[in-house]
Amino acid sequence: MDVTPPSPPPPQIDVFWDEGMLAHDPGRGVFDSGHDPGFLEVLERHPENPDRVKNMVSILKRGPISPFIRWNPGRPARFMLDIACIPKFSEYIEELVKADATGGKPLCSGTFLNPGSWAAALLAAGTTLSSMEHILNAKGKLAYALVRPPGHHAQPTQADGYCFLNNAGLAVQLGLNSGCAKIAVIDIDVHYGNGTAEGFYKSDDVLTISLHMNHGSWGPSHPQNGSIDELGEGRGFGFNLNVPLPNGTGDRGYKHAMTELVVPTVRKFDPELLVFVIGQDSSAFDPNGRQCLTMAGYWEIGRIVRELADDHTEGRLLIVQEGGYHITYSAYCLHATLEGVLGLPNPLLEDPIAYYPEDEALSFKVVDSIKQYWKETVPFLRE
Ligand SMILES: [Zn+2]
Repeated sequence: MDVTPPSPPPPQIDVFWDEGMLAHDPGRGVFDSGHDPGFLEVLERHPENPDRVKNMVSILKRGPISPFIRWNPGRPARFMLDIACIPKFSEYIEELVKADATGGKPLCSGTFLNPGSWAAALLAAGTTLSSMEHILNAKGKLAYALVRPPGHHAQPTQADGYCFLNNAGLAVQLGLNSGCAKIAVIDIDVHYGNGTAEGFYKSDDVLTISLHMNHGSWGPSHPQNGSIDELGEGRGFGFNLNVPLPNGTGDRGYKHAMTELVVPTVRKFDPELLVFVIGQDSSAFDPNGRQCLTMAGYWEIGRIVRELADDHTEGRLLIVQEGGYHITYSAYCLHATLEGVLGLPNPLLEDPIAYYPEDEALSFKVVDSIKQYWKETVPFLRE
């Protein structure tokens, strides 16, 4: 008798989403300033507007990746249980609650708490926590929190860079509280994940690695530079690693940084859980970044991170959405990233606008000098 073995079920990612997050409207102005100079006929929407995420939702629902996606509801963060319990946090949270109760206010440059924003921020935090709980409770290994407003600039005591609550940071804290001894965070948003770094700066049980544009500090809400010498403090020294990459780094430069810096470091750290913080603002066409990744680059990064998860965390991987402001291309780059994470053999979707020339010579040099610096400076990476 000819018995064909049943084909294995397709790999799946559990996506957590709630459309209530669309209610946050940061307004219009000159770029992200909220300012009307009086001489422009058309004031553009704030880059972190709901449309960017609407396209991310729809491409996952209707794009070729849709059979690999399982949709899960989000939930608001519970005030006392999830947020207010975090030490140092309470005064800042009170400020946000008060601002919301009085109709909202600008919190810092580009960051506007408007009517509806606080509820959306609570949903983003709670939905990320749900995704983490999904993994911690062994309901699945791959989870993606499709959330906005973003979170990785939010610090324990202040808002920054369109972010109110640090969604990924809260999820990492939940992982630690639930008994995970070591968690690694890889952040590929084009901006420094300063809030997440700040939250775990003195801790050696969380390794934070951020690959970003070399943008430096951008004011009082973002005092960190994201430079290579911001390494953590006390027992956390060496457990915050920054990879500032030159403008125009591109697909090959990012792959080099992943292979030479991120992979060996995460392998040495050997985490129990991996958190992959993604922002499509490192794409070639983003208004907020100049790093020039294309879909192929995101696909490859997704593949590398999945491989790390398979080797070190039994495949347990939480993905958290941050920036990404090109309304169309961010959705395409997200699609490509998740294809890489799923380990699909070939791209499902063609890149509609990949024609950016690459010159990786400088980025290779920068990556190799960071590698040398880590070897000399970071205790756990010394041979
Ligand atoms: Zn960003």
